[in-house]
Amino acid sequence: MRLLREKIEEEGIVLSDGVLKVDSFLNHQIDPVLMKEIGIEFARRFKNDGVTKIVTIESSGISPAVMAGLEMGIKVVFARKRKSLTLTNNLLVSSVYSFTKQEENTIAVSGQFISPEDRILIIDDFLANGEAAKGLVDIVNQSGATVAGVGIVIEKSFQKGAKELTDLGYRVESLAKIASLKEGQLSFVEQLEEVTS
Ligand code: 5GP
Repeated sequence: MRLLREKIEEEGIVLSDGVLKVDSFLNHQIDPVLMKEIGIEFARRFKNDGVTKIVTIESSGISPAVMAGLEMGIKVVFARKRKSLTLTNNLLVSSVYSFTKQEENTIAVSGQFISPEDRILIIDDFLANGEAAKGLVDIVNQSGATVAGVGIVIEKSFQKGAKELTDLGYRVESLAKIASLKEGQLSFVEQLEEVTS
């Protein structure tokens, strides 16, 4: 996705060999024009997959997921990371090791919002080691629903998440793929889609 790639090139800050900071458009300040395009692109890629609902994780997955949900005309559920007094019904829970915070988090979704008939598109902002996505897959599996695919805004292809999810049989669609962040230098995996989108 050309617009996303340009934004990463212009505004992304390489914090270390493994971490990219994109606080100016995705993780803190949000660029709604870019998010709208991201939603359109996810909708285009998953239009033939019978998706009935989107599941994401707070907080940075919410904006791309909502824009995709708007474009696809379906609802969006986000997994909560903190215990909420109001989240008590029929809880689906999984444990996720956070790459950026280096701590284990319990994530939870109320089972009332995912039914066994649902075909779920999982969306997140980043894919690194795949912990967050696998936690969401676990929650969807517990509900009895089916995972239609995983949509990622920025995949760091040098980490193991994309390969692990693909090896498990899940379709992963990443709108930007980072090949390396070594020595402060950001390089992309060349993607065929760049030509068409
Ligand atoms: P994973 O669970 O795949 O190891 O990591 C994905 C999660 O960690 C995402 O939800 C994202 O919030 C965070 N994350 C992983 N790598 C990065 C990164 O390079 N930059 C930012 N801003 N967040 C990241």
